[in-house]
Amino acid sequence: ASRHSEDGVLVIGLGRFGSTLAETLQELGHHVVAVDSNHDLVQRWSGKLTHVVEADATSEEVMRQLGAHEFRQAVVAIGTGIEASVLATGVLLDLSVAEVWSKAITREHGRILERIGVNHVVYPERDAGERVAHLLTGRLIDFLELDDNYAIAKLRAPRGICGRALEKTALRSRYGITIVGAKKPGGEFTHAEAGTVLDVGDLVVIAGRTDRVESFAAEIG
Ligand code: ADP
Repeated sequence: ASRHSEDGVLVIGLGRFGSTLAETLQELGHHVVAVDSNHDLVQRWSGKLTHVVEADATSEEVMRQLGAHEFRQAVVAIGTGIEASVLATGVLLDLSVAEVWSKAITREHGRILERIGVNHVVYPERDAGERVAHLLTGRLIDFLELDDNYAIAKLRAPRGICGRALEKTALRSRYGITIVGAKKPGGEFTHAEAGTVLDVGDLVVIAGRTDRVESFAAEIG
């Protein structure tokens, strides 16, 4: 019988990214096994995470003994050592883990991971840098680019669209964006509808092409 449940996730590397990921997954109710070769880190996390193992993830033999092949999902959260990252990713792919995610620091690192067949590459530093750039330059309170040139963002309802029903503002034709949801101070987000009337101070979530989202937030007063 398998030691690891269907929704189990194997996390390699307990740096800032890996440890946060493992902790969050565990809070969400998943079975998590975390692996790190650093003795002190393993000690530090063994109180908080249920299953922490001190092991070298670049060794196929060690990972097989650990039951790595029984996981459907694994994340390699080693960013700084490209060699260890690539080797650990390769081991998991060789052990037929169905879905392998790996963290990369640079584009080149990510390309190597893609060439050896990883399913997803994540770039936490690059993504955070991009996001903060969008937050710094405009009125956006939160921003997420979901795809190449498609984003959602949270911002205060611009004065120019307050006080009349959304259907009267022609936002889609004039600005190319859609208001997805709105929230009054102290309230909760609800779906925006044709008849929704925004007030100054409301928060809105908008969606649209990234450049349209940016220009809407920058232009409309
Ligand atoms: P972050 O930037 O998220 O803090 P790091 O890349 O600095 O991430 O952390 C990588 C972690 O991976 C470290 O804790 C390190 O001990 C661990 N690690 C590095 N090589 C191996 C390996 N071969 N096997 C297991 N863990 C490893």
